[in-house]
Amino acid sequence: MAYQISDACISCGACADECPVNAISAGDTKYEINAEVCLDCGACAATCPVEAPQAE
Ligand code: SF4
Ligand code: SF4
Repeated sequence: MAYQISDACISCGACADECPVNAISAGDTKYEINAEVCLDCGACAATCPVEAPQAE
């Protein structure tokens, strides 16, 4: 299981700064989470202003 970022993402970058394992990077239209690396900690969801990161 991993978190995924929905289309609600406004590419603010806040979640990438909070991720303890650097699993989040900017994609073409929104930020994206590398599921292979994500620890499911929820820090990105807690930081996001638009609740875009969701538990898969
Ligand atoms: Fe990173 Fe945690 Fe979000 Fe996974 S749930 S992408 S480990 S901040
Ligand atoms: Fe997108 Fe939310 Fe991450 Fe900002 S904090 S880049 S809106 S997922």
